[in-house]
Amino acid sequence: LHFELRIQGPQPRRDKSACSWDDRPRQHRSGEQFAPPARMHPDSRALVDARAEAEAAIAKSHAADTRLRDAIDILPQGVVFLDAEGRYILWNQQYADIYKGSADLFKVGRRLEETLRIGVERGNYPAAVGREDEWIAERLAHLSNPGQRHEQWLSDGRCILIEEQRTSDGGRIGLRIDITEMKAREASFRLLFDANPVPMFVCGRNDRAILDVNDAAVEHYGYAREQMLAMSLSDIQQCSEGGAFDSLDRQASDHGAGRTWKHRKSDGGLIDVAIYSRALAREDAAAVLIAAIDITERKQAEARVAHMAHHDALTGLPNRVLLRQHMGDKLQRMRRTGAGIATLVIDLDNFKSVNDTLGHPCGDELLQKVAERIRAALREDDVAARLGGDEFAVLVPGAGGPQEVGAFAEGLIGVIGKPYEINGQQVLVGASIGIALAPGDGDDADRLLKNADMALYRAKADGKGAFRFFEAEMDARVQARRRLEVDLRRALANGELQVHYQPVVELATGRISGMEALLRWPHAERGLIPPSEFVPVAEETGLITALGTYVLRRACLDATRWPAHLKLAVNMSPLQFRLGSPFAAVSGALKESGLPPQRLELEITEAVLLEKVDHVITSLHALRALGVGISMDDFGTGYSSLSYLRSFPFDRIKIDRSFVRDLATNRDSQAIVRAILTLGSSLGITITAEGIETEAELAWLRAEGCAEGQGYLFGRAQPQAETLVLLAAESMLHVAA
Ligand code: C2E
Ligand code: MG
Ligand code: MG
Repeated sequence: LHFELRIQGPQPRRDKSACSWDDRPRQHRSGEQFAPPARMHPDSRALVDARAEAEAAIAKSHAADTRLRDAIDILPQGVVFLDAEGRYILWNQQYADIYKGSADLFKVGRRLEETLRIGVERGNYPAAVGREDEWIAERLAHLSNPGQRHEQWLSDGRCILIEEQRTSDGGRIGLRIDITEMKAREASFRLLFDANPVPMFVCGRNDRAILDVNDAAVEHYGYAREQMLAMSLSDIQQCSEGGAFDSLDRQASDHGAGRTWKHRKSDGGLIDVAIYSRALAREDAAAVLIAAIDITERKQAEARVAHMAHHDALTGLPNRVLLRQHMGDKLQRMRRTGAGIATLVIDLDNFKSVNDTLGHPCGDELLQKVAERIRAALREDDVAARLGGDEFAVLVPGAGGPQEVGAFAEGLIGVIGKPYEINGQQVLVGASIGIALAPGDGDDADRLLKNADMALYRAKADGKGAFRFFEAEMDARVQARRRLEVDLRRALANGELQVHYQPVVELATGRISGMEALLRWPHAERGLIPPSEFVPVAEETGLITALGTYVLRRACLDATRWPAHLKLAVNMSPLQFRLGSPFAAVSGALKESGLPPQRLELEITEAVLLEKVDHVITSLHALRALGVGISMDDFGTGYSSLSYLRSFPFDRIKIDRSFVRDLATNRDSQAIVRAILTLGSSLGITITAEGIETEAELAWLRAEGCAEGQGYLFGRAQPQAETLVLLAAESMLHVAA
């Protein structure tokens, strides 16, 4: 817009243009006229010369004029020259186009004021309507005191930017720019800004002064508009959100989208805002348009979700996911600093029975209290986590040697083991701890947790309430167990497991009254594996339900080939009651084989009743209603609580062979077995003695009136084929007798 032209010398006529500056024929502006002379005078030489000179000057001036005209004609703006009295000298086509409502009035020598007045009368200037004289006076004041831009609206809706400058001869040069489109853009921007529901600011790019705010910003931030306009962005922005200000420039240049800042509202509250910004030229100054979308709620929700994904809802402790992240970080630091890390896996002892006897809400409360105690025992850098169920973990970075870590574990066991007050009741729970030390026992999270787990397993196996450090041989044992699991799975699938039968004898007559099914696993490398080795593996892995079903089906089928008065006893694991549906398995096996239910007896141990869950008792009753007998196996071992005998009407009690073994010599055992026999006869329960190996034992038991017995004295467990031979021989003996 800063456009300057200096006009020098005469301004000759130019014919070419319609809006020409001069319609007088070949007349110099001063009024001189050059006509050809009538004859040659003695002085004519000089005259001719002068004339030639003058014509050359005119030609030169004409050329200059043409150049000027060409120059202003190619300009996109309207250009007008006025003399010192405000009379038209020269204007270009664009000028005439802009003022097409008055263009017919433009004439060299005519005053602009005159055309202006007529234009006002014609209604060309909407702003002048009703205040014509004032408007004209203002316009002329601009003209006489040029240098300031101003805008002028025309009746056809266009907006013209006017800029006028004084020329060296006291006249004016005026520029006219059609800014209608820009004005429309500005208006739509204004509308978008003012009415936008998103809080928006215009800020100075350098001083960050707030130059403009929209209604939404005023309402959302709570400051008065004037107050906001007196503030700078720094007043509402939290600088602590590192480098937020620096990013303003960067954002302005790359149409910055989606940076989040923290802003302070008038009530002092902090909000999270996503900032979208864009560079903006505002009255020649660099500015930035900022839209600030409040994402506080979204951020809070995200934080909640993130917290939930990384924490245990019950105790608020980090979960396994977060623990592994911490382990990753701390192990990385360990690699730099060399300071060791201890990983402790803690498992509560007998938590399940607390849960079962007091109910789940109390169990939950207990877990919360345990978590609190663990948390309170930690140092600043330690991390506690709940791995699930009643299992916790503690990470001790910079742990000292095994002695120090052992003392820490000991302390934890002590703290957890103190009585808890829950629902007005005192509750006790112990803890076992397995420890893995990094880097010695592994330098990645998975290995450390796994090894600590193995150490925990050992701590539990060694009697609970203690801690154990991981040792390499534990790994070997676990590997062996895992191999056993894989093999067992395969053996079960391939039907390699065998069911053998051990006779149960009526002691008074010595006749076989039944058979107990006992599982055998012939292993390719290890020979015959006893159930005591693989049943626990099956129980741990859940294979026990499939295994139990297999034994039931096989044994029921086999029993159908025995004499009809013989009973079949099948052992049932507590896990079959917890994991599977024993009723379905038993009734299925009976149906499939056609064995009458009265011929089947299920042997359970007290562990089944330890579960104390109603559905165990319910399914035992259901099985009994089917006609199946229920025996209590291994009586005398374990808890031997007589109340178990009250909780279910057993058909048979099997005295554990540990009592039978030293019957001949041990008076205590004799007293116990005698008591059980009395109990059986008064409750109407058949008693079977297990593990009879000698004639002396048999004699004692027979004399005391024990009804039935089992043991190597009568026969070991044998496959079905041998059992059939045995039974055939026995029946012949019986017939003979
Ligand atoms: P149990 O039910 O008490 O079985 C009796 C165990 O004592 C058998 O051991 C049997 O071989 C052994 N035995 C019998 N008479 C004598 C004797 O005179 N002297 C000695 N020293 N031992 C004798 P086995 O077969 O090794 O079974 C051990 C345990 O494994 C069983 O104890 C039972 O609890 C469990 N078991 C066996 N088969 C199964 C099964 O199919 N399912 C389930 N869940 N458990 C089973
Ligand atoms: Mg048994
Ligand atoms: Mg037994």
